[in-house]
Amino acid sequence: MNTRKALSLMLVVFFVVSLLMVVGCEPEAEPEDPDEEVVEPEPEDPERPVRWTLASGWVAGVYYPVSGAMSRIAYENMDNISLTAESSGASVANARLIGTKDAELAILQNDIAYYAQNGIQMFEGEGIPEMRGFFTLYPEHVQIVASADAGIENPGDLAGKSVAVGPLGSGTEANTVQILEAYDLTFDDLGTVERLTASEAADFLRDDRIDAAFFTTGLGAAAIEEVAIVKDVVIVSIEEDKIDWLLETYPYYSDEVIPAETYSGVPEARTVAVLAMVVGHADLPEDLAYEYTSNVFENIDTIHGAHERGTLITLDTALDGMPIELHPGAEQYFQEQGLLD
Ligand code: GLU
Repeated sequence: MNTRKALSLMLVVFFVVSLLMVVGCEPEAEPEDPDEEVVEPEPEDPERPVRWTLASGWVAGVYYPVSGAMSRIAYENMDNISLTAESSGASVANARLIGTKDAELAILQNDIAYYAQNGIQMFEGEGIPEMRGFFTLYPEHVQIVASADAGIENPGDLAGKSVAVGPLGSGTEANTVQILEAYDLTFDDLGTVERLTASEAADFLRDDRIDAAFFTTGLGAAAIEEVAIVKDVVIVSIEEDKIDWLLETYPYYSDEVIPAETYSGVPEARTVAVLAMVVGHADLPEDLAYEYTSNVFENIDTIHGAHERGTLITLDTALDGMPIELHPGAEQYFQEQGLLD
């Protein structure tokens, strides 16, 4: 055997040995069962829940805990919808998120929903006619929280003071403008105009960095109680004739009293309120909108347990103060419940 042949033989032996080693390492193949069904890799599951974003509000407000309860209801009871609650500046920002389809559902004030759908006030020239109503929730009081020693007896005394007028994108800011208007004041008459988040406004009040802050939110909001427990604050009352003017000029306001001790040590106050509500995009499929609405009311205890204001959300009052056209899915549910003709 010449050297070339010997080399070739060695190569062949090496190849055969390697092959045997590889095969030897392979796990034993299952014998094929001709009766077994072949399971194909799963394609995109059309039955998977659609993901919806629910634009809510301030972490230290009331929209946020209520939205959290809604997303829990979806998680526990809805096969078709997964709902994620997101915090935001609130009403005005949320209306815009519906317009751009960055959120499927949103909580906002009923006055702001009306302005948005009709393209008036802050929505002049950029209305959101595709916004639809689902149901209303609970009253949101305009709460003007002031340091007890700032000498603010009524909103007219805010002239020259340092004031948090509401977070960017809030409905609160619109209410602040209107209440100042009732006193013939504008932002220009204030000493300083601060645009802070609700939590920042609470911190600034506590640290005497501002004299007063506006919050349009449900009674019992964490942001206000956080200040009240550590500092002497009052809620500034709006005078009767100014309340009358506000009710006549802006029809979504109601005349309200904030009972004493709603917040630790804070005396009674008189103010105006709007209603919180849920809206969604007109394009949301009718069956899913129906499923969401029916599940909220069939599992309302979850919302009642999330915040004291949640207990005011009831089927009987679900269409009170509804300022815009209903989504057909919600409409069908309320029709079945006998709330509509
Ligand atoms: N109503 C508030 C606003 O739009 C938000 C309140 C909350 O988050 O509870 O300004």
